[in-house]
Amino acid sequence: MRIRLDQIADEPFLWEETLSIPVAEVERTELVALGEVALRGELRRTEPGLLLKGRVRYRQTLTCDRCLSPFSAPVDALIELWIQPERRQEVAPEQELEEADFGVLYVAGEDLDTAPLLREQLQLNIPMKPLCRPDCVGLCPQCGADLNQDACQCAGPGTDPRWSALADLRSHLD
Ligand SMILES: [Zn+2]
Ligand SMILES: [Zn+2]
Repeated sequence: MRIRLDQIADEPFLWEETLSIPVAEVERTELVALGEVALRGELRRTEPGLLLKGRVRYRQTLTCDRCLSPFSAPVDALIELWIQPERRQEVAPEQELEEADFGVLYVAGEDLDTAPLLREQLQLNIPMKPLCRPDCVGLCPQCGADLNQDACQCAGPGTDPRWSALADLRSHLD
């Protein structure tokens, strides 16, 4: 959705929208599927600029970093961004860093397009190492069996597959 920013005066602008965003546009290989993204937003003027507060809800399917199985999980996340007109002067690097902490979005022109903003939020909601469950034991480093399903024959009797995975990792480090 495109929102005319110059129309927002004293009253906050409230809106709701539902977007279908193609998985390829999010540019994360861990993302397998994406449900419709529901956004509920509020824009209010806070001289200088505007403050955007929103809530996104959707379902995403990710590939587990350990067992490589796809798993689906709901997302319910808050957005808080400070909207500023596109800057034209040079900004000192320290200042830029400081601004990044606050989540500043620079907008060129009169319109705010919510689609690119949402794509960025979707990226933020994908963990660096997604896990199907916190205690996922992953694949056997030798035979590739999914150790969540069944213990394979590689680990000797009485050996916890988690320890053999660790031992394997250690042997790689040595
Ligand atoms: Zn897993
Ligand atoms: Zn195995």
